[in-house]
Amino acid sequence: MAKKIQAIRGMNDLLPEASPRWQYLEKTVSSLLTRYGYQEIRMPIVEQTALFKRSIGEVTDIVEKEMYTFEDRNGDSLTLRPEGTAGCVRAAEEHGLLYNQQQRLWYQGPMFRHERPQKGRYRQFHQIGVETFGLKGPDIDAELILLTVRLWRELGILEHLTLELNTLGSSAARAEYRQALTSYLEGFYNELDEDSQRRLSTNPLRVLDSKSAATQKILENAPLFESYLDDESRQHFTGLCQFLDAAGVAYKLNPMLVRGLDYYSKTVFEWTTTALGSQGTVCAGGRYDALVEQLGGKATPAVGFAMGVERLILLLETLDVFPAEISQQLDIYLAASGEGADAYALLLAERLRSEQPSLRILTHCGGGGFKQQIKRADRSGAQVAILLGENEIAQGIASVKYLREDQEQSEVTLSDLAGFLHQYLQSR
Ligand code: ATP
Ligand code: MG
Repeated sequence: MAKKIQAIRGMNDLLPEASPRWQYLEKTVSSLLTRYGYQEIRMPIVEQTALFKRSIGEVTDIVEKEMYTFEDRNGDSLTLRPEGTAGCVRAAEEHGLLYNQQQRLWYQGPMFRHERPQKGRYRQFHQIGVETFGLKGPDIDAELILLTVRLWRELGILEHLTLELNTLGSSAARAEYRQALTSYLEGFYNELDEDSQRRLSTNPLRVLDSKSAATQKILENAPLFESYLDDESRQHFTGLCQFLDAAGVAYKLNPMLVRGLDYYSKTVFEWTTTALGSQGTVCAGGRYDALVEQLGGKATPAVGFAMGVERLILLLETLDVFPAEISQQLDIYLAASGEGADAYALLLAERLRSEQPSLRILTHCGGGGFKQQIKRADRSGAQVAILLGENEIAQGIASVKYLREDQEQSEVTLSDLAGFLHQYLQSR
């Protein structure tokens, strides 16, 4: 036998058993976003490498070590998108959606990062992202957070999530702070972890994000960004906190929250949970007022976030909060045997679907005797089997066999069948 080819490490198949849970989450999110007036946008999965370098930043984990970059047949450098914001800005700008306009957009789909696969961390993973453009006040930041709160409540996970908030200020304020932080950390250079040593000269704010205990210890006495924050950013942040207070949304101020992408300014936030181990961030975002201009457009304020679909599904599974009705259980297994029975069965199934569109019907295909077909019907999970033999066909009736309760088989005329089945299933 030929050697089997397997999937790429960290890239998962989504099996039929799991897809109802994904569909439920996707439907819940898209319906909620529609109710808030957000519109879906779909971008390609591949973009020019330069787009991600210029937006996410050359000295970030994503660009330095996580991107799937390759040369296409023309010799162009392309990259599988590691996130959606850059492509969304590129698309919106390219199609003139940003100039003097306000947009509330969302997208969903796979993202690619070459990370070490583990629970809640994959090389192909999925995000649902939301981006708004042309709105500069803290009211839209608050709306984004309020809509996530509503989403968590609808999904039944709100009390298991914590909102962490921070402001990164203006780029001038960050530059001043960067200087102060760098001078402070240089005094402890030899005690820093290796990543932080490297980042000190390239992206010192990321040192705040370090997972090393030694580095965290040093950071305890580091200068605080708070004292460098510019007035405008301070007012924006105070405004956001007031909106959240008025709406009764609880949050935790986390001055160490800097996020891994360079394009953020002012507001940043993360929703985290302790129920998933170390991959606890299920949703993250912030303001990126400089990005549109950085990518060649006219300066346009923007704020957005992305949620990790796999992590949300894991959380919903861990907490066991999927509604029972999302199961896609069959109602009817239509079995037929005898001369001409297969065509008869296909047509009857079509008639039932027209008369009673909500019925979930699986028609047995491939022939064979009733014994084998009833076994399949039982395994299919259907509530009832419809049996069409030569007798039934000759008399214009169907035999209804109850698969999940001890009850005598019924004979029903075809004109009554759809209503009969509907009524029976309703009563279950
Ligand atoms: P982390 O700190 O966990 O690496 P991140 O800051 O790199 O996350 P973002 O780029 O902000 O993540 O992406 C937003 C969300 O996408 C994350 O909060 C997470 O839920 C999800 N996510 C990011 N990377 C992965 C991955 N490799 N596998 C699964 N989900 C991911
Ligand atoms: Mg990451």
